[in-house]
This record gives sequence, C-alpha cells and structure tokens, in this order.
Amino acid sequence: MAEEPEVDMAAEVRRAMRILNPKGETEVPRPTARRTMAIANQKGGVGKTTSTVNIAVSLALHGNRVMVIDLDPQGNASTGLGVNHDVDTPGVYEALVHGSPLSDVTHEVEGVPGLYCVPATIDLAGAEVELVNVVAREARLQKALAAYDGEIDYVLIDCPPSLGLLTVNALVAAKEVLIPIQCEYYALEGLGQLLQNIELVKSHLNERLRVSTILLTMYDKRTKLADQVEKEVRGHFDEIVLESVVPRSVRLSEAPGYGQSIITYDPASKGALRYLEAAAEIAKRGAGRTTNGKN
Ligand code: ADP
Ligand code: MG
Repeated sequence: MAEEPEVDMAAEVRRAMRILNPKGETEVPRPTARRTMAIANQKGGVGKTTSTVNIAVSLALHGNRVMVIDLDPQGNASTGLGVNHDVDTPGVYEALVHGSPLSDVTHEVEGVPGLYCVPATIDLAGAEVELVNVVAREARLQKALAAYDGEIDYVLIDCPPSLGLLTVNALVAAKEVLIPIQCEYYALEGLGQLLQNIELVKSHLNERLRVSTILLTMYDKRTKLADQVEKEVRGHFDEIVLESVVPRSVRLSEAPGYGQSIITYDPASKGALRYLEAAAEIAKRGAGRTTNGKN
C-alpha cells in the first residue's frame, strides 16, 4: 500500500501549511510538559474522532510527538489513522484489562512521523464489564500513562459516545478536556450532563482536570442555525472556544475511508486548514499564554 503517496503527502502538507501561514511561521510551540487531553462528548457523531485524528496529525506535522489512544470499541480513530485493529492486535484493551505496558501496545502511524496510536479492538466492548472487579478501575488508563516514559508531547484520547467507565478512565487520565460541539439542532443537549460528570471526576478522582477547549464542528455557513449555535456557545464558554471553526465538508467524511486524515487526504481543503489552525491554537494556548488566569 503506497509508499510513494507518503512522500507526496509530506509535500502537500508543507504546501497547505504555507497557505495557512504565508509568513512561514509554520512552527508551533512544543509544550514544556506532556499534555493529556480527553476528546469527549457522550453524543455520537459530533466529530470527536474526526477532531482527534486531524488535530493529532496536525500537531505531529508541526513537529510534536503525539499519541492517540483510541478508547472507542468501534475503533474509528484507529481506522482513520490507518492502524490495524483486528482482534489479534494488541491495543488499549490489553493495557486497561491486563495491565500491559503502553509501549507494548503502541503502533507507529505510517506516513506521519512522530504520530503513534494505541488502537481499539472489539475486545474493548467487554472491558467495562471486565473491569468491574479490578482495583482502582477508574484509574487504569492513568496508571498506564503514568508508567509510560516515552517522549510524548500530546496524548489525545478519543472517547466513546457514552459516560461509562471508559470515558471516566479518560477523564481520570487527562488534565484537559476538549469538547467538540456540532453546529446543529440540539447541539447543547446533554452538555450539562457532560459538564456535571467532569465536575464529579474532578472533585473525587482528578482535581487537576479542566475543560480547556471547545471546538465547533460541522458548521454549515448556509444555515442561520450554525451561526446561532456559534454565538450561543461563544457566549457561554467565551475564550475556551477555539477561533477556528470546522466546516461541514464531504471531503472530511471521505478521508477515513482511505485510512487517512483530511490533512493528508486533501491538504488544501477548508477542513484541513481549519484543523491545522485549531491545532496551532491549542498549541499556542497551552504553551504559556494565560487565559484569565485559568491556565
Ligand atoms: P464521533 O466520534 O463524535 O462519533 P465522528 O468524528 O466519527 O463523530 O463523525 C461522525 C460522522 O460525521 C463521520 O462519518 C465523519 O466522517 C463525519 N464528519 C465528521 N466531521 C465532519 C465534518 N466537519 N463535515 C462532514 N462530515 C463530518
Ligand atoms: Mg468516534
């Protein structure tokens, strides 16, 4: 499967980055310490996986070392990164349930230097039940990450569409939560419940947790509604909402079918540019700039 396009990809991506940043300021700061972000929203289909994959690829292409942990038994992030996740592939299930070291279950993502993936296999679907009798079952992922001393700048955890034990593991392991919000009807439905769960985890299991980032996705500029949702979300959440808004785009939905990110599949597309910008914002915000003393 195509070694040649990988070379092309790198060139395409550099081109996209020049479009994005004509002054040639293509570097984004690397964080001084590892940043661990859970990409969470219990609603399905809001863009969690698409955002995880494309932000991870963008950060890696900016020179960061990035680990994606696929915590959804459907394995969509693994698919999107072109990482094998057959039943026999060691992945996050082994780390959570058997306590395997992350270094044993981490796979390199082909074509994107510095990007690694801990895939999800279908075994993960049983993990919530299997973990019930395990000691400190909410902190299995945190423990695995704490023991992992590989040099990684960002850990992005793609959560499943529920608030069950897998998502709790992500929230206990993370320091930051990134919530993707779809610019559509019922966008804010369920958000209160998510925030409440985050508060619960924060007060009982992980006091350093905070919602650092909200990303608006699937913005359709032809609809008034998208604009209303954007205004409402910015009104409520203010500076944690990224400036970059991801448009609804067919190209974005096609890319995973080729085991690719939009950045490599169609680097000059709006979707690719918005994700590259979103990643740059995340990097810049986290690297020292204090937002109202919240950092
Ligand atoms: P989640 O992980 O929250 O369930 P996904 O990222 O898998 O959501 O997105 C749900 C579906 O919508 C997928 O088929 C994906 O390819 C598609 N999709 C995601 N973002 C966009 C977008 N900005 N425009 C069009 N389709 C999108
Ligand atoms: Mg998903």
